[in-house]
Amino acid sequence: MTNKTTSSIKSAKTIALYHADSDYTAALIQQFKKRLPQHNVQAWAPDMAADYLVSWKPEPKIFTTRDVKVIFALGAGVDAFLAADLPEGVPLVRLEEAGMGAQMLEMALYGILHYARDMIVLNNGRRNKQWLGRSTPKRAPFSTQIGVMGMGQLGRYVAEHLAQLGYPVSGYSRTRKDLPSVTCYDDSDFDAFLAQSEVLINLLPLTQHTQDLVDAKLFAKLPQGAYFINLARGKHVIEEDLLAALNSGQLSGALLDVFRVEPLPAEHPFWNDECIVMTPHLAAITLQPDAVEQIGDNILAFEAGQPMHGVVDFSRGY
Ligand code: NDP
Repeated sequence: MTNKTTSSIKSAKTIALYHADSDYTAALIQQFKKRLPQHNVQAWAPDMAADYLVSWKPEPKIFTTRDVKVIFALGAGVDAFLAADLPEGVPLVRLEEAGMGAQMLEMALYGILHYARDMIVLNNGRRNKQWLGRSTPKRAPFSTQIGVMGMGQLGRYVAEHLAQLGYPVSGYSRTRKDLPSVTCYDDSDFDAFLAQSEVLINLLPLTQHTQDLVDAKLFAKLPQGAYFINLARGKHVIEEDLLAALNSGQLSGALLDVFRVEPLPAEHPFWNDECIVMTPHLAAITLQPDAVEQIGDNILAFEAGQPMHGVVDFSRGY
């Protein structure tokens, strides 16, 4: 073995990949090997040392890995990682958009159309074999007032694309944005934002400030008969309050992709509520090629002493 080869083996940085599904991990290893051929890419194993730890879920055992310099989450939301016992002083980096924006947009549109085209009423009619014809449209196409909570990588993508379709769109975030096509709000006028959100889309991160935010008080501030779309986290929502708002007619319906307990327990009342469209936490899944590309760029940036994208701010909680 030449000196050059010996030294390149010695200096090769190790990437440890963890996913509960070994086929998923095997596919990921192949993609990382192509993206970073100079790196030593391995499935995570107990007692190993690695420079970079890449994981979908924050399994406690993986944080025993020695010498880790950066932890990469294979998702956009990092609330579960932040609740775990992470090694002190190691940056945590999440995925930014990475092909999830278009998936979120499509899911949001599904809910908006369900509301705007009266599918709840029509589905009820169908069940009773009623032909609920109408001589005039209920509303002009693309006129439903949309409110997006969270104007980050995904919320902003959804808001701006809905605005491009012609919807009047408002966006709410911690720091007020300035966007040509979206009317932007922050905490100082949150009630005004809610008052005109016929369809409210949640794309906030789960933090100590946003947990339980969506409750009876919030629903009461929406227009009567509004529609709620939750694409973020179940713990944003007080589920009993959501059911009460549906029962009272304050909400006409909801599309829920996420729940306080997942999988949703068999006895949960959401299963039987016909005003709720449910999907099992798949609004936007991690796309391996996009994820590998982004994490690969970040690893190379880190090694070149450049800033990485998507570094989580531990003090903000997202
Ligand atoms: P970002 O971190 O890019 O954006 C977060 C946005 O929320 C920012 O605009 C931020 O404001 C705003 N925000 C944070 N805290 C508050 C607060 N207290 N009050 C008001 N606004 C606040 O997140 P992403 O867009 O990448 O992702 C959003 C969430 O989507 C993820 O955290 C995850 O929970 C969820 N998700 C769900 C998936 C699914 O399949 N269902 C898949 C992927 C993600 P500011 O701009 O001022 O910082």
